[in-house]
Amino acid sequence: MDHDVLEEVFAYARTFLAELPERRVTPSAGAEELRSALRGALPNEPSDPRKVIAELIAACDPGVLATTSGRFFGFVIGGATPPALAADWLTSTWDQNAGLFVAAPAASVVEEVAGRWLIDLFGLPEKTSFGFVTGGQMANFTCLAAARQHLLKKAGWDVEADGLQAGPLLRVVVGEERHATIDRALRFLGLGASTVEVVQADEQGRMRADDLLRVLESRDEPAIVCAQAGNVNSGSFDPIGEICDTARSSGAWVHVDGAFGLWAAASAEYRHLVDGVERADSWATDAHKWLNVPYDSGLAFCAHPEAHSAAMGVHASYLIHTEEGAERDEMDWNPEFSRRARGFPVYASMRALGRAGIMDLVERSCSHARRFADALASAPGVEVLNEVVLNQVIVRFQDDDAATRAVIRRVQEDGTCWLSGSVWRGKAVMRISVSNWATSTEDVDASVKAILAAARSVAG
Ligand SMILES: *Cc1c(COP(=O)(O)O)cnc(C)c1O
Repeated sequence: MDHDVLEEVFAYARTFLAELPERRVTPSAGAEELRSALRGALPNEPSDPRKVIAELIAACDPGVLATTSGRFFGFVIGGATPPALAADWLTSTWDQNAGLFVAAPAASVVEEVAGRWLIDLFGLPEKTSFGFVTGGQMANFTCLAAARQHLLKKAGWDVEADGLQAGPLLRVVVGEERHATIDRALRFLGLGASTVEVVQADEQGRMRADDLLRVLESRDEPAIVCAQAGNVNSGSFDPIGEICDTARSSGAWVHVDGAFGLWAAASAEYRHLVDGVERADSWATDAHKWLNVPYDSGLAFCAHPEAHSAAMGVHASYLIHTEEGAERDEMDWNPEFSRRARGFPVYASMRALGRAGIMDLVERSCSHARRFADALASAPGVEVLNEVVLNQVIVRFQDDDAATRAVIRRVQEDGTCWLSGSVWRGKAVMRISVSNWATSTEDVDASVKAILAAARSVAG
């Protein structure tokens, strides 16, 4: 086998990316068409790689949701900047197993540098440790594992050695509007999803700090408090500084889930939303969201490096760690063992954008979100339900669940842009999330037009 097949991919990628601004965002193929193009018995004999890749492209291209398009506003999905994409290709070309320094020296040092840049960008304490993980889910998991280690150790219990069953009670306090990955991380950690103590949220989805005080004071056992920077629907922020102060007085650990919201810290205009964030104990965020690197790329930060490495570290007879941790052995900071060298795209994207470029990416996304909100709210029968503090807009049509869902369906069918729905305070809503470097004012205006046309056709 030779590598000529890469030329096939390069030519296709050039065309795909060049046509992206005009491409219909919604896929043209459904499950049945994809299946009929892809299925068949596993071949007995080898095939020409060029033919395999050409056919893979032909079969899959119609089934690609154009999430890297500037007119994609679903979930919270960032694009991919060209340098990040290029570095991601390098990552696969080098195919490093970035678990140990000896196995991938360049990957280790690139992570070390990019990790320090991120700590500086977010304004976190200098001693903060970090792990490059697959996403916000695993970042939350990693941070909460460090929290569990730290608090139980303080209570005289070695959870890594002795497990949880006979150990002291560990409380977990969460906001009513936490992300589902917090509950899932707690499940993975044996802390249980239904044993959490829930603090009320206000009408924007922000944790109520006064209610936190009441919950914390109700018992004495050590507690992890899970705060949120950036509600996945409204984009709202828990009052993080106040939460840190309240928690500190009771010795609690504060974890901040800032999957996209922590990036507000990189902007002069939005930094105030995370005021006090540096006083927390751990932070989870994503690079595949607002930094616009390809999947998968999440980041876990911890103000207690000993707890972080005690929770994650691993040793085995055949592994070669650097002496005294002289160099960065990534597997001591991640739940993974063998792993992708996902530092390369992060490094390349940060270096190419610079501080100013990252700030601009965040601020432009937010101003696009406001443009959406202003244009939609001025149309009859359309209501914006949230304070648009960041990049998220939640919209309701004719104050009716069925009408709102019908508008979302029509917008998706039309394909000018793509977005999805949610439920906000018991009501069906459309969610608009802007987090792509490629989104332009024209993209927003064309998308508003498509949404309002869908709304008119549903209103009949
Ligand atoms: C997206 C998101 C997550 C999960 O992150 P993944 O990268 O999808 O694993 C967690 N919390 C919040 C607030 C999010 O927006």
